[in-house]
Amino acid sequence: MPTYPAPAVEIVGGRGAQLHDRAGRTYIDLVAGIAVASVGHCHPAVVAAISEQAAQLIHVSNLYSTSPHQRLAARLASLTGGKLAFFCNSGAEAVECALKLARKWGRQQRGPQATRIVAAAGGFHGRTFGALAATGQRAKRVPFEPMLPGFTHVPFGDITALEAALTDDVAAVLLESIQGEAGVVVPPPGYLRAVRALCDEHAVLLMLDEVQSGLGRTGAWFGYEHDGIEPDVVCLAKALAAGLPIGACLAGAEIAAVFQPGDHASTFGGGPVQSAAALAVLDVIEEEKLIPRAAVAGERLMAGLRRCFGAGAVVRGRGLLIAVELAAPIAGEIVMRALGKGVLLNSTSASVLRITPPLVIGDGEIDRALAALQEVLDET
Ligand SMILES: *Cc1c(COP(=O)(O)O)cnc(C)c1O
Repeated sequence: MPTYPAPAVEIVGGRGAQLHDRAGRTYIDLVAGIAVASVGHCHPAVVAAISEQAAQLIHVSNLYSTSPHQRLAARLASLTGGKLAFFCNSGAEAVECALKLARKWGRQQRGPQATRIVAAAGGFHGRTFGALAATGQRAKRVPFEPMLPGFTHVPFGDITALEAALTDDVAAVLLESIQGEAGVVVPPPGYLRAVRALCDEHAVLLMLDEVQSGLGRTGAWFGYEHDGIEPDVVCLAKALAAGLPIGACLAGAEIAAVFQPGDHASTFGGGPVQSAAALAVLDVIEEEKLIPRAAVAGERLMAGLRRCFGAGAVVRGRGLLIAVELAAPIAGEIVMRALGKGVLLNSTSASVLRITPPLVIGDGEIDRALAALQEVLDET
């Protein structure tokens, strides 16, 4: 269906932070499949984990236990202060799980009226109806109205507006720690800490959508770590299985306990192949020290982007989750011209470039991409 613009190029293969097309042209990939290929394309450890697991067992459903599923749940628990996992197949589904959990929790813990979700203007949580209702971007919602009821949107970064929205019909607050699709909007320092305090004071859940910002990209396992807080619920997807479909909704045992057998399910969720891939991804992130690397590479890339664009743009971000806000609506033109010079970029709007390379990108690749971008800007 015509849901995407016509693709600019056919990619046939990739390694690390580089891709190549059918004509044999190579590209430095500053998109990473939209923040998915964090450990690089076709990382040998991930390829081996997928191949070995596929030869052993591909699917049995959640009627039975498998070792990769159990080990991945344990691994994610160890990264999130002991949270329990529900596995699904995408970011939107991880958010759907969080929304259902919040509504049932709110009814039980705060009373039958407490089913409302407070989310942020500009926020993005996925395209299914629950996730879309939580998404604070009118253009994505309006064609598909009526929306699921029970959602309020407040300005991102505004703690006073959030406090005013925490009426007694609220079950949970759902936010991204950095708004990715909105153009990498980083909230003011201390915002998430203040949100955490408000949620505690009003006894509502704090649910963070780390689908894009999670798993090392910002220079920490999760974006919320920069504010030193612990959310009640965490949603993951994108980078978790290096490109195989997976999502995870994580919650502390007491909160997760509101779900009973039959409340929620997913046929493919937690399947052995995607779980084995995710375990390999988490190993690579640790063994290759990609989290500190994301922080250092992000500094180099942001400094270089500031040099390239000068006063004509604002460069913002954290680690390797970066955006360039241009003074003119020429993001699409820059993306096309950069492609012609062997650099893949993405835009989130007519005036915002988004830069989310694999965390394995080397200094040499960063410098080559910057040089190509400088040529594009000189010509534009
Ligand atoms: C991409 C994204 C989603 C949706 O994930 P899908 O796998 O496309 O459903 C949800 N939340 C955030 C923050 C995202 O960046």
